Amino acid sequence: MPRLSGHNATPPPQSLPIDVYRRCIPAMDGTRSDDRACDDVKLLNPTRPLERFWERLAAARERLLILDYDGTLAPFTAHRDDATLYPGVAPLLLDLQRQGTRIAFVTGRPAEELARRLPLSAVEIFGAHGQEYRAASGTLTRTPLTLQAGTWLHEAAERIAAHGFERALERKHGTVAIHWRREDQDGQARLAALASELAQELPGDLQGLAFDGGYEFRARGRDKGTAIAELSARHPQALMAYLGDDLTDEDAFAALPQDGLAVLVRAEPRPSRAHLWLRPPDELREFLGAWITAAQ
Ligand SMILES: [Mg+2]
Repeated sequence: MPRLSGHNATPPPQSLPIDVYRRCIPAMDGTRSDDRACDDVKLLNPTRPLERFWERLAAARERLLILDYDGTLAPFTAHRDDATLYPGVAPLLLDLQRQGTRIAFVTGRPAEELARRLPLSAVEIFGAHGQEYRAASGTLTRTPLTLQAGTWLHEAAERIAAHGFERALERKHGTVAIHWRREDQDGQARLAALASELAQELPGDLQGLAFDGGYEFRARGRDKGTAIAELSARHPQALMAYLGDDLTDEDAFAALPQDGLAVLVRAEPRPSRAHLWLRPPDELREFLGAWITAAQ
């Protein structure tokens, strides 16, 4: 069985609502919430061997590797258009696909935009946090929006743009994201204030969510978790793993089938539902290589 020097973990209790994980993320200065519920949130711990997953993978008739893109396979950049795969990842993905592992993506980006960035063809992509589905054939379907949600999102984006922050906006089907990673401190504070002002006025069918480097308003009912549930339904025989870095990926970790492997890819660990923590890019490449070895 392949070796992997990642940080294995005992899965934390699956019964905690995702909001608890959001609340319990340590603050930027490292301070932890004194909320009692956070006592039940475990950081990943290095006690569970991965051997069994590799054994099951070797025996599996179908294998499905589901990937987030930004922050997981591609490092964050000040300009989102500059985000490209970590060196050495593209050939590993191509090898995996050639070997028969099915690869799918679940991303916050629009599905078509991600498809253009990938070195792979014939992959399924859930875009805009599950609001879009691009089949392996390239056919795109979108979850219909209510008129109220569509109008609110449009007007929220216009308001942010009117404050001079068009560059921070990402308008997607069913979502508007505000990225403040490349703003200075003053810009970040102004955008955060605008986001919290807008959050007070949200209609019921939309929700506001923080992510790494910004804030997002999006239609309820679809998220990375519903995307994973759909992939599981489409590929019921497949043994699957999901790799992600962000808070929105916690929905995906929680939605994996019992025998699935949830992997947090991130420079630093944090409270998470993931089973395994990998520090990119070395451990990420090692994981993909180990998958190829196990599936031979
Ligand atoms: Mg990400």
